[in-house]
Amino acid sequence: MQLMNKTVNFINTLNKSSILESAKKAFSGIKDYFGITKITFVNEKEEIDLVDGYNTSNIYNYDSNYFSLIIYLENNYFDDELISYVKIFEIEYERYITLEKAMESSYVQILTGLPNSAGFLRELSKKKREDLNNYSAIFLNLKNFGMINKAFGQKEGDEAIKEFAKHVTKNLYDDEIASHFGGDNFVFLIRKERFSEFLETCNNLKIYIDSKDKKIEINLSAVLGVYEINGNLNEIGDVITYSSMALQYAKSELKPYIFLTKELKEMLNSAKQIEQTFEKELALNHFLPFYQPKVDIRTGKIIGSEALARWIYNEQILAPYMFIPTLEKSGKIHKLDLYIIECVCKDIKFCHDNGYKTVPVSCNISRKDLLVENFDEIILNIINKYEIMPNEIIIEVTETTNINEQEAMLEFINKMHNNNISTSIDDFGTGYSSLSALRDFKVDEIKIDRSFINREKLIAEDEIIIGSIITMARKLNINVLCEGVENITQANFLERLGCYNVQGFLYDEPLPKEKFQQKLEEGNYHC
Ligand code: C2E
Ligand code: CA
Ligand code: CA
Repeated sequence: MQLMNKTVNFINTLNKSSILESAKKAFSGIKDYFGITKITFVNEKEEIDLVDGYNTSNIYNYDSNYFSLIIYLENNYFDDELISYVKIFEIEYERYITLEKAMESSYVQILTGLPNSAGFLRELSKKKREDLNNYSAIFLNLKNFGMINKAFGQKEGDEAIKEFAKHVTKNLYDDEIASHFGGDNFVFLIRKERFSEFLETCNNLKIYIDSKDKKIEINLSAVLGVYEINGNLNEIGDVITYSSMALQYAKSELKPYIFLTKELKEMLNSAKQIEQTFEKELALNHFLPFYQPKVDIRTGKIIGSEALARWIYNEQILAPYMFIPTLEKSGKIHKLDLYIIECVCKDIKFCHDNGYKTVPVSCNISRKDLLVENFDEIILNIINKYEIMPNEIIIEVTETTNINEQEAMLEFINKMHNNNISTSIDDFGTGYSSLSALRDFKVDEIKIDRSFINREKLIAEDEIIIGSIITMARKLNINVLCEGVENITQANFLERLGCYNVQGFLYDEPLPKEKFQQKLEEGNYHC
């Protein structure tokens, strides 16, 4: 029987194994209908029979731009018949090629053509586990990339990303991997010993951006989180998690790069756990205020208290330093602050309803809270809800040098003032805007930071500084309290300077509410 054959020419758009697979699938789908007996793949170097199967090891590792598929048919067809059958084959073939391409593109980031996260993992998995120990995984973000996008537009931003990707990847070794996770997120696998070299290529890259008919030079630099891979990987994807942890930390610390150490890993893991469990724990009322008395030195009388948050976690009492920084970073601190204010209002109402004594309670708010919309209104609503008199709550804020926060703080303090709620500047003297704060803000109290009296020996300079703060505050009609009073020498020193309101371990540490209530009912401290 005479075989007819028909040659169809193609442009090479994919790797050879994808082409061979697609042609084979197209062939097997239609061979029974059209009597196709065999198909061969042909380029300048080789001819491969796709019907009998092929052994990839025999295929030249050679990709030309063009190739042909020769289709052998067992019957005699009229020309137009033949053309239409071949067309059907071509359509089938294109369909499989498109599928292959889609598969391939799910591993590629479109803008830069680099592997995306799935592509990165695929490349990573081609390496032997023990070989990975020779590399660092580096998560990289461009500095101020948001500003470039904003100032020049997204198209120019994309160009900047492409330029950066081109520059960094051209300096890589063959065994190293570059990937682009989208936006300005890149992940690299770099030989450990090449870190400094790599760092250099990622920084101070000059590129030119089109902006209104002229080219503007910008300087690209990056922030890097580095995880030096070692044997202890649960799964390969951990290298992304760890390097991104290091990057987040580098960003929050404003460092150009950070290596993930064991300590940092533990710290970040616990931060993650805090973030994940915080809201659940809050709903379970596992947070509560402890109360530390504020005392008048002269009489030993409790004149107020400060509510300090505690977290009862797995029957342990956790102090604020263990969770507040994480909550501030994750933008959730206002939830805790409002919750503590509400607890305080409930406790005061309980005392009112049951005939117990009360004193004004100071509640701490974070500066981050000031940027929460209507934060002042929310506080006022809570106080109203429990029918608490405005003079029973004092709000403590710390100084800030950030101009946005300062404006928000001014507005907040004025709003509290207009609603007869006192405010206090906490840790006074530790920020450098202390003096102007007193002039501009309608605050009722300042709390002198404990670092002013917390020395081996109080000297003449301490006396001058604290003395002048007290005099100045008095002239401005602002109450002064000194915190962290631990011994009688400090108390005497403050009394001599005319600072009578104090707080500190000399009297009591922060106490659970029942204990505090008991002290309040009992009367004065005798020191
Ligand atoms: P802070 O507002 O300056 O609170 C005073 C801290 O000093 C308290 O620590 C208190 O226990 C401690 N302290 C009191 N007397 C003495 C003393 O004589 N010597 C020494 N060395 N320390 C003393 P605490 O309770 O661990 O709170 C630490 C910080 O956490 C607070 O500092 C405050 O900034 C923050 N914080 C506490 N509760 C809250 C809250 O509900 N919201 C917010 N945003 N921050 C809170
Ligand atoms: Ca405070
Ligand atoms: Ca303080």
